[in-house]
Amino acid sequence: MSLMFNGIGVSRGIGIAPTRLLIRDKLEIRERSITKARVKAEIKRFDQAIETAKKELEAVSATIPADAALDITSFIETHLLMMDDEAFVNQPRLTISEQLVNAEWALHQHREAIIKVFEDMDDPYLATRKNDINHVADAVLHALQHGDKRRIKAGEQEWEGVIVVADDLTPADTVVMQTQGVAGFITETGGQLSHTAILARSLGIPAIVGVHSARRYLRDGDMVLMDGNSGLVAADPHEKTIALYRKRQREQKRATRELEKLRDAPAVTACGTAINLYANIENDDDIRALRRANALGVGLYRTEFLYMNREDIPTEEEHFQVYSKIIRALKGSAFTIRTVDLGADKQSRHTEKSAQERNPALGLRGIRRCLKEPALFVPQLRAILRAAARGPVNILLPMLTNVGEVRQTRELLEQVRAALLEEGHKVGEGIKLGGMIEVPSTAIAADQFARELDFLSIGTNDLIQYTLAIDRIDDHVNYLYDPLHPAVLRLIKMTIQAGKDKKVPVSMCGEMAGDERFIRLLMGLGLRDFSMPSNSLLAAKKVILGTSKLRELRKLSDSFVDETNSERRAAVLDKINASPAEEH
Ligand code: PEP
Ligand code: MG
Repeated sequence: MSLMFNGIGVSRGIGIAPTRLLIRDKLEIRERSITKARVKAEIKRFDQAIETAKKELEAVSATIPADAALDITSFIETHLLMMDDEAFVNQPRLTISEQLVNAEWALHQHREAIIKVFEDMDDPYLATRKNDINHVADAVLHALQHGDKRRIKAGEQEWEGVIVVADDLTPADTVVMQTQGVAGFITETGGQLSHTAILARSLGIPAIVGVHSARRYLRDGDMVLMDGNSGLVAADPHEKTIALYRKRQREQKRATRELEKLRDAPAVTACGTAINLYANIENDDDIRALRRANALGVGLYRTEFLYMNREDIPTEEEHFQVYSKIIRALKGSAFTIRTVDLGADKQSRHTEKSAQERNPALGLRGIRRCLKEPALFVPQLRAILRAAARGPVNILLPMLTNVGEVRQTRELLEQVRAALLEEGHKVGEGIKLGGMIEVPSTAIAADQFARELDFLSIGTNDLIQYTLAIDRIDDHVNYLYDPLHPAVLRLIKMTIQAGKDKKVPVSMCGEMAGDERFIRLLMGLGLRDFSMPSNSLLAAKKVILGTSKLRELRKLSDSFVDETNSERRAAVLDKINASPAEEH
């Protein structure tokens, strides 16, 4: 019998394939051999894990009220003492160096040996002490695998042709799986605008998030049908259902082929207004999709992905090589490189290690981290300036919240330029510096930012998150996600107006820009530059080609922003989106 679930469809497309379950919450203790040269580092890793586990226990201990039952405190103290006990910690160190094995395995062996001794004693009191050994060992093992346990490693498993079912996926996981030809993603948590969802959309992989308990009901290898549009998941689907969805798959392919005919048509409305369509890219491979869609250039290059699935940070030379490759492929088209926006749901191992933030979305993200960590920022800026000598490049700064950050970056850019010239490097001229408008404060003060910057780019994904106070990766608040919320639209309108007043171009690169339902509304609000995933571009062009009477559209859009009655809002939006033939 077929089992049905519903989630939030975040990336269109139909997947029919066997599942592969990803269970990462459990500790995985496997024996791994290490080289002699690695022994010192492995012992250090073990010692650090002991320290981390101790700190965690001490933190728990500090929260125990003074009047609590004594045995809670003594229980924790016993564990802390064990971690300080040389006899307990020395043996694993010895095992690491003598048997040349990983710290997890050394500790596991030690634990088994101690437990065996307790069990042989046949004393009921001592038998309970074996739980203490287990708790302490588990705490250290968790600390050892912190960061590691939630990570997918390249080449470790085969993902080709399977629908991955996971609690959650990080963008880094998604990148690894995508290179192996995964058929779809189903996750228990996650939101519309998580970077995993954005990546899945841009890669054309069907994805559904928020399917609670999916891993409880689905088994490895179950045949599953998923519809990334509606969010439907059917396990063991009936043959008739499969046939119906295969038909839909064929129809979607046909519609895509129809859209491909628009590839060479200029994006101009029926009343003669040209609209500029750029592509968002996440890596150099995306240039192929950009060409297929015939985008004008790159409106947003998310460079975070250069930092993922690796322990270290990319060197200046690595940045330079990638940027140069893209510049060559773009043959003179616009190339907007967004400086690295690590933090929140885009973590690299480097930031994972250094950031233990309470609220990462409000923490050291984007430009904040870059200005705080020149070692992260300077190599990227150097590489951008050098690459700019080979073709046009714009720089885009993420997560700006005050103009001081722009000024500081300009100063840093000047220093970097001077240093490069002194070292004899060629450096690009006329690089434009732009800023993301993705925080309400920046949108409200867009006129001030427009005075300091050469262009503005509206990042609606974060603008919606921060304006409506909804975590973009939390499916529990997904119901509040509303790009058409009057507050969001007002901020967009203010930004476009500020750009007009100050004669500074304004584009939009958030997911909203590529959504067919909103393109006319945005055009009506005055937006002319759109940047979106390449695979949304031709559908957007179709909407633009079918648009006429921009003046009328402007009035309708303005009235939509100010309308509070939901029925009237829906009617106005329908009118905005009605094709010219339907208007009469
Ligand atoms: C945005 O916030 O809209 C945006 C384009 O940036 P990102 O999705 O990478 O945060
Ligand atoms: Mg953003």
